[in-house]
Amino acid sequence: MSGDVITVEELATVEHRLRTAMGRAFRAETASRERDPHHLGLSSVGTCTRRAAYALAKTPVSDRPPVREARQANLGTWEHAGLLPRLSEQLPGSRVESKVRLRAAGLELVGSIDLDDLDGVVDLKTVGEHRLAAVRRLWRPFYHNRVQVSSYALARLQMGRPVRWVAYLYMDRASGAEEVVVEPFTNALALEVIDRVTLLRALSADPDRAPRDERGPGLSLSCDECPWLKRCWGPDAEPSVVGPQAVSTDPEIIAALADYDDARARASQAEADKKWALARLNRAAYGTYGPYRYGRKRDIEETDRAAAEQRLVDLGEPVPKKKKRGAVDIKVVSRVPQPGEGKP
Ligand code: SF4
Repeated sequence: MSGDVITVEELATVEHRLRTAMGRAFRAETASRERDPHHLGLSSVGTCTRRAAYALAKTPVSDRPPVREARQANLGTWEHAGLLPRLSEQLPGSRVESKVRLRAAGLELVGSIDLDDLDGVVDLKTVGEHRLAAVRRLWRPFYHNRVQVSSYALARLQMGRPVRWVAYLYMDRASGAEEVVVEPFTNALALEVIDRVTLLRALSADPDRAPRDERGPGLSLSCDECPWLKRCWGPDAEPSVVGPQAVSTDPEIIAALADYDDARARASQAEADKKWALARLNRAAYGTYGPYRYGRKRDIEETDRAAAEQRLVDLGEPVPKKKKRGAVDIKVVSRVPQPGEGKP
């Protein structure tokens, strides 16, 4: 402690300096992990099909996405670096970041197994709370995780080391809560990998026709960070900006309206289902029941808009108004053709 009294302005300067340094630190980490966009490793075989096809075809990139802070991804990377060696210490004979090479469909793809155990392959997936809840609900790995981890297993098998099981260690990157999904490594999983690599190889002959697995800029982080964003969505596409998804032909517009109507019906049914469930929980004590925890978040204070408006009226003050865009209005005005009846 010095005898000087630090001023409020100096404290603000320190705060600003630290915030700026935090952002730069995350961006530096992201930059340190940048890879050649044309490199397709085993960790990418399950990601967007068109992006993988562009990479395999060595299609020139159309975008140079800015280096992002990518805080969640970087936190996940650091958790891998800290946890995996400690985990390996507890599993004698296991190895961390074991390099493997897969040969399939005339391609050679390389990757690293997070934790190469005696007779199985473990992959650590750091996720958010909602993703962990989805794993608990479905009790199976996500498709792209399964293809990725199975490709490590098949690569290890090809290198002469048998694999009996594959494990997905899903961990909430904030709380450390985990779920472990283990499944046998079967011929069916190996074939799934070979089929996937064969498909990517075939699609790389004309990658612009490969299916897009993502919904475009502003709706998908993968698209926002994709080096082929403009090639895929058109020259006006910009990261994080919704727009190039717009369609113009009648069949495309009808398909989008049908999607909206279907989603609205499901949302409305989901709302009714939630009310029905809550009605039955009305007298249940908060607590844990089977796989569920039932509770309530803390009460919050919110502005009473009607009272605030009345107060202004009472004071003779004008109530501030602003223009609000009218809500989308989509109605079903004639019979919707059913599947098998042909296009409307
Ligand atoms: S822009 Fe999106 S949909 Fe297109 S290739 Fe890239 S990730 Fe896939």
